[in-house]
Amino acid sequence: MITLKSKREIELLKEAGHIVYLTHQYLRPHIKAGIKTIELNQLAEDFIKSKGATPSFKGYEGFPYTLCISVNDEIVHGFPSDRILKDGDIISIDIGACYKGYHGDSAWTYTVGNASHDAKYLLEHTEKALYEGIKQAKVGNRIGDISYAVEKYAKEHNLGVVKELVGHGVGTSVHEAPDVPNYGNKGTGPKIRNGMVIAIEPMLTLGSPDIYILDNDWTVVTADESLSAHFEHTIAITDEGVIILTGE
Ligand code: MG
Ligand code: MG
Repeated sequence: MITLKSKREIELLKEAGHIVYLTHQYLRPHIKAGIKTIELNQLAEDFIKSKGATPSFKGYEGFPYTLCISVNDEIVHGFPSDRILKDGDIISIDIGACYKGYHGDSAWTYTVGNASHDAKYLLEHTEKALYEGIKQAKVGNRIGDISYAVEKYAKEHNLGVVKELVGHGVGTSVHEAPDVPNYGNKGTGPKIRNGMVIAIEPMLTLGSPDIYILDNDWTVVTADESLSAHFEHTIAITDEGVIILTGE
């Protein structure tokens, strides 16, 4: 069931989303060669708690960490670990925070030091694919209009679209209806209504979009070991326009 949010709820979702945004900004200067990904996890957890919020992912269906940290060919749901970031890596950090019962969810992919031309291309166009999706998030459109726009942009830029994982509604649960796939047809799927809150999250690859799941049963990697990027915002769609809840 898709729940539409009141103005008051959207205000709370905005507070949760802003904490997620601030956590990304807080981590940014720490993302450099030599740091362990588990250290980033601890920094984020302490920061989220200092804002009076709780990490949304820790304990969610048994996920053991505050952050999902996915490096290079890891697409999503990577486990923070003793892995030390190296110059040239790319790192996707997915952050969820719950504040007063409402969640925010946003992923961003960062370069570590000097990234390759190909890595920069992937990041630039995965971020742009996210904004192509957001442009279609309007009352009266359908979810498929968002999906179509993301897929069209990705294909035009020769990037693979991961299909097994999708965006979603956000509210008092971090994952709610509707699904927001990164592929599909215009004019299909649920109608977008005033008060809908969704996370749009393209996961694109430089090579094949086929996936493989690691032995930890969580971490999704590209089957061909090509690089993958992930950009996500939680947004509210209202009659007055779209509000990016996990932005400034
Ligand atoms: Mg999400
Ligand atoms: Mg996320």
